[in-house]
Amino acid sequence: MTPKQEQKFRKLLVNQRSELAAELAGLRKEDADTKVDSSSEVSERALLEAERAFVHRHEHDDANLLNKITLALERLENGSYETCLSCGGVIPMARLLAKPSVALCLPCQKAKDESSSGM
Ligand SMILES: [Zn+2]
Repeated sequence: MTPKQEQKFRKLLVNQRSELAAELAGLRKEDADTKVDSSSEVSERALLEAERAFVHRHEHDDANLLNKITLALERLENGSYETCLSCGGVIPMARLLAKPSVALCLPCQKAKDESSSGM
């Protein structure tokens, strides 16, 4: 990878990270503002709970992605950005461009998805 490409990926990742951080901060604020009204109907409360659960799930995904981006930036720093974490092979540039936070090559990602989807 050329220094120019490195810089491009760093910029992509940093941008993505700040967007996510802003989104997470927004979610947290919204969550804190949400109060269960004791006078509301049971069905309304259930709806509220469902919304809360969705927000939490969403937040969890975002936090995961945030971790991945931070890891990717570290990998960029130590020169292992293009190296698959699982098999040590090279992650194709096209894959990195499509998803700058990936740490696995496609076959390893597939294997991982298949092993975790059975849960
Ligand atoms: Zn691999």
